[in-house]
Amino acid sequence: MKEEAAVEFVMHKLVRQKPAKLKIRFGAARGDVRKFERILSRKLPGTKIEIECVPIEVACRCGFSGGVGLTESMNFARCPRCGRLAWIVKGNELIVHQF
Ligand SMILES: [Zn+2]
Repeated sequence: MKEEAAVEFVMHKLVRQKPAKLKIRFGAARGDVRKFERILSRKLPGTKIEIECVPIEVACRCGFSGGVGLTESMNFARCPRCGRLAWIVKGNELIVHQF
């Protein structure tokens, strides 16, 4: 599952075993943010977790750029204008700040 992979990624980034607080920028292409938060908070009881969700934006060869809905892939999404695969330019973030 994508969300579990994202949680594993965060766990590997941790400098300390139990940080007091985490601030995470979570790109929507990484999966369902609520599911991600649920799994992560189960792994880190006692850690305050703040998540900022970054919506998905794509750029396509047809000239379209802008937001799209959920996608199955972390790298591509369907262009809402022409239906081809478009690059995800935003929404792939997974940035961890720990305190
Ligand atoms: Zn297009």
